[in-house]
Amino acid sequence: MLQQTTVNTVIPYYRHWVRTFPTLVHLARATPQKVLRAWQGLGYYRRAINLHRSARVLCRDFNGRFPEDENILKQLPGFGDYTTAAVLSIAFNRRLPLIDTNARRVLLRLHNIRTGNGKDHEHCLREFLMKNLPRRNINIFNQALMELGALVCRPHAPLCQACPLRLSCQAVRQGDPGAIGTKPKKMFERIRVGAALIEHKNKYFIQRRPPGGLLGDLWEFPGGKAKGAESIRQTLAREIKEELGVRLMSTRAWIRIRHSYTRFKVDLHVWFCRTKPLPKADRSHKWVGLRNLGRYPMPAANAKILVQLQKQKKGENSCEYC
Ligand code: SF4
Repeated sequence: MLQQTTVNTVIPYYRHWVRTFPTLVHLARATPQKVLRAWQGLGYYRRAINLHRSARVLCRDFNGRFPEDENILKQLPGFGDYTTAAVLSIAFNRRLPLIDTNARRVLLRLHNIRTGNGKDHEHCLREFLMKNLPRRNINIFNQALMELGALVCRPHAPLCQACPLRLSCQAVRQGDPGAIGTKPKKMFERIRVGAALIEHKNKYFIQRRPPGGLLGDLWEFPGGKAKGAESIRQTLAREIKEELGVRLMSTRAWIRIRHSYTRFKVDLHVWFCRTKPLPKADRSHKWVGLRNLGRYPMPAANAKILVQLQKQKKGENSCEYC
């Protein structure tokens, strides 16, 4: 949960997750839909899918216990070098170095390494850590190093006066630690998207995104990205024809929702739409009543549409920009 996400953001998700799945068996027995719903809003949904698959393998083949063998762990879905080292060192106290973004920044500054993005030096940093890992309490050491990076050796304005490493830190001697290990500011791509609310007999039409792709397996209202100077009406007509094989007959603009994902910002235009004929339901397309829509895991921007629909139902005003 903490990859690419801050602790403060994660805490409520984590608490909800462990209440929903208190043991590995609860997670293994859950439906993929329930797992994705519990993860909704955290992004990088592949991680939730991999956790679920790993729980199933562990329950089926290892009696619900984590194997301590590095090579076996690496065969679990989603277990690369970092996750394997994290589980083995933190849960089993195995003598393995752990380098996340925060730990990497501390090490780069400690050695005043200014070139490249830090990953070029991974091998040297790992060797340095291997030589300096304590004999005991590896779990505490590894977590402390990551925490030092997050709280003290912060990307901008590191708190060097409070740092236990300041006497041996090369970057401090050079006088510019904040210039090391920071990424250039992200440029967001801005995209216009149309979403169609197709309503029939108090039910709304939703569809499941293809598995494996961006936001794969999540449910959404039909629609898509506007191409070039296309109007939202043209976008909706095209997307509905392509995705559902039906014709857009009439539209009514409703609200606009703004949402930022990791790499892009979405300006989502939500319109009520009528089509001819009505789109058909199947395994990946459903007509769902408002009360049940919350059971379907949705990308964050679509979840905001749902909140606005629920407000409208209660007679509360929907905002034009959410
Ligand atoms: S002294 Fe400053 S730059 Fe060096 S490791 Fe500590 S916080 Fe980071």
